[in-house]
Amino acid sequence: MTDVRIDDLPVRDELRGKSPYGAPQLDVPVRLNTNENPYPLPEPLVERIAERVREAARGLNRYPDRDAVELRTKLAEYLTGTCGYEVGLANVWAANGSNEVIQQLLQTFGGPGRTAIGFEPSYSMHALIARGTGTGWISGPRNEDFTIDVPAAEKAVAEHRPDVVFITTPNNPTGNAVPPETVLALYEAAQAAKPSMVVVDEAYIEFSHGDSLLPLLEDRPNLVVSRTMSKAFGAAGLRLGYLAAHPAVVDAVQLVRLPYHLSAVTQATALAALEHTGTLLKYVEQLKAERDRLVAELRAAGYEVTESDANFVQFGRFEDSRAAWRKILDRGVLVRDNGVPGWLRVTAGTPEENDAFLDAVRELKKEQE
Ligand code: PMP
Repeated sequence: MTDVRIDDLPVRDELRGKSPYGAPQLDVPVRLNTNENPYPLPEPLVERIAERVREAARGLNRYPDRDAVELRTKLAEYLTGTCGYEVGLANVWAANGSNEVIQQLLQTFGGPGRTAIGFEPSYSMHALIARGTGTGWISGPRNEDFTIDVPAAEKAVAEHRPDVVFITTPNNPTGNAVPPETVLALYEAAQAAKPSMVVVDEAYIEFSHGDSLLPLLEDRPNLVVSRTMSKAFGAAGLRLGYLAAHPAVVDAVQLVRLPYHLSAVTQATALAALEHTGTLLKYVEQLKAERDRLVAELRAAGYEVTESDANFVQFGRFEDSRAAWRKILDRGVLVRDNGVPGWLRVTAGTPEENDAFLDAVRELKKEQE
């Protein structure tokens, strides 16, 4: 075949010279680079998934439930049960991973001629999905300690008048949670400037010391909370994300969603997982304890650590984080270099994986002394 590259094709201008998103995956003994839950699903749940999927398979000649009513009802029950704030079917929408939720939100509220803002460093897919949907991207400020610089953020919102404001809490890759007062201040600033939609990305909230911001939805129709089953539920391979918001937001995203976007197999699997919520969330407690151990041990070993409310920890500082990443990899442990100068990120794994990581970084410290 003739040698044709992406840029030889008539692709959209904003995609020229770009590379696809993706964490480098290497075949090493300990992989702590993508914030996954290290525990495979428990066997009784695997059995229940098989049962539910077998049932769904009998109906695969038909399109799935386009509105995923049973699944959204169960997700609403999960949110109500864990956050003490009542949401129902009409408040919840689901899609293939929270990435698709974010894409649908940007297709609905962003798009050509519109802009979105995020406070960086943060989850880089927000900017990439903005680009993919033709939404302009504005990089907002953070303080040295990676908290959001509220006055500067309010100023940026007032100045740029974005259509969508992203707030990630706990933030990825830094790990710190955003206080509710900050979210409220930015919501007010965003309403005064435009008004615009404020999307709170709570992908890691189950690992937080604090509470979900779900109760802030009360009387705030331009607020959206996005969630995922990829982290706390240990089901990254399932691809199930969801949002909670005013019913009008749920109606609005249906203007852009593809019909039957959530397969019957996905819906059946997610429903089975939700039946085992109690068991799955036990792993969360274990991972939180391991996360706290990583923070304490990294500090004891002489590293700086950003306060973490997630299932990962940002640590540093390195003069050359790329070189440090490579040295940790040489010891069989894959962590993530998110391009934050001086810092790396490690996902909390099993106790054994975390021990291997801690041995590697202690050795690295000795080498540097
Ligand atoms: N939001 C944040 C902050 C994330 O870190 C991730 C995954 N890395 C996602 C959303 C997307 O998760 P998923 O599409 O698997 O639900």
